[in-house]
Amino acid sequence: RTILRELTEIQLKNTGNALPDRDPSIFLKRHLKKIRDLGEGHFGKVMLYVYDPANDGTGEYVAVKTLKQEGGNHLHDSWMKEIEILKSLYHNNIVKYKGCCTELGGQVVQLIMEYLPLGSLREYLPKHRLGVAQNLLFAQQICQGMDYLHSKRYIHRDLAARNVLVENEGVVKIGDFGLTKYIPEGEIYYRVREDGDSPVFWYAIECLKESKFSFSSDVWSFGVTLYEILTRCDHRQSPPTKYVEMMGMVQGQMTVMKLINLLEKHRRLPCPRDCPHEVYMLMEQCWDFAPAQRPTFKYLAESLEDIRR
Ligand code: ADP
Ligand code: MG
Repeated sequence: RTILRELTEIQLKNTGNALPDRDPSIFLKRHLKKIRDLGEGHFGKVMLYVYDPANDGTGEYVAVKTLKQEGGNHLHDSWMKEIEILKSLYHNNIVKYKGCCTELGGQVVQLIMEYLPLGSLREYLPKHRLGVAQNLLFAQQICQGMDYLHSKRYIHRDLAARNVLVENEGVVKIGDFGLTKYIPEGEIYYRVREDGDSPVFWYAIECLKESKFSFSSDVWSFGVTLYEILTRCDHRQSPPTKYVEMMGMVQGQMTVMKLINLLEKHRRLPCPRDCPHEVYMLMEQCWDFAPAQRPTFKYLAESLEDIRR
């Protein structure tokens, strides 16, 4: 009985601390001060803010993501799902969820994440000449994050260097996922953006042909991400640049058709300079025509570890 009483006391104390207005995952808009834009992708926009509820300069930096267009209800629902997914993920190689900020009425929700000052691999790799071993360490960590994601039965659908964030010279984290999973398949999905940055160049053949996304199509996209890492995200060798070189200039919807033709003829991105042969072999396995033949992220993580040593 004493134990029970003690437990009740502890419980009372705990509930006392968890007043609703102190929930650390609720961020109040009035305490958020914008510093600058961090970047934007296809669906969202990410900005750097300081959250300083005490208003005395002791605040912390946070990355705040909002939906780019205030679309219809469907987009809003998918957005809430992305937040729910991120909230449920805990892994060293996945960006940390911190909370939400809801504006009056609850329609506009902002996602608050930890801020990674070094930005995405796309910004980081061209500026820092890392050795092959360090590049392979990054690749291995992406596989570990993806293996975890798949173990939770989520498909990423947009794995690319632009969606991998750098914590420090020894740690990367996957950011930006979940959203594309819930975007209705259709025109918006295949739209080729003028800046040549369309995600179609990261898609597996069956995604291009039948919009069939799966664990194995994430593995294909990882192969393309691995290629980006080994080319140090040099834009002259980027997947869109290389594929366009291989298929000749095309426009709009024709791009996807030409890309399918190319891949069906078993043509693939070339082996990057300075890329170890074993690593290119892994890429080729990721780009196997048959989804079931592609390796798992567990296998890829182990292989990369072996190659690194
Ligand atoms: P989208 O869904 O629109 O593609 P992302 O989540 O990929 O948006 O973010 C776009 C860009 O913003 C990233 O490529 C990266 O440069 C930057 N970014 C995103 N999250 C963070 C973060 N937590 N810390 C620092 N930079 C970030
Ligand atoms: Mg993105």
